[in-house]
Amino acid sequence: MQQQMNLRLEDTTPIECDKCKGQLFKEVTLIRKASRFVTNMPQDSMVPIPVFACHKCNHVNDEFLPPMLRSDYVEIVEETK
Ligand SMILES: [Zn+2]
Repeated sequence: MQQQMNLRLEDTTPIECDKCKGQLFKEVTLIRKASRFVTNMPQDSMVPIPVFACHKCNHVNDEFLPPMLRSDYVEIVEETK
């Protein structure tokens, strides 16, 4: 039997999309490339990072991103506009 977390739903707060206030999210993957000069591997390596994107508008809230990537991601979003 699976052990339930000792947490009541009333004690949780919903997370909303920063853009459209939607509360449904899907898991998407951000992929970072690590240069072979940094990792000392023969080839560049791909580093997948799972994040949650809004189910409606595909926006990714800052809080779902690793802190180091937040400013990067903003740049990516602006470029594709
Ligand atoms: Zn949204």
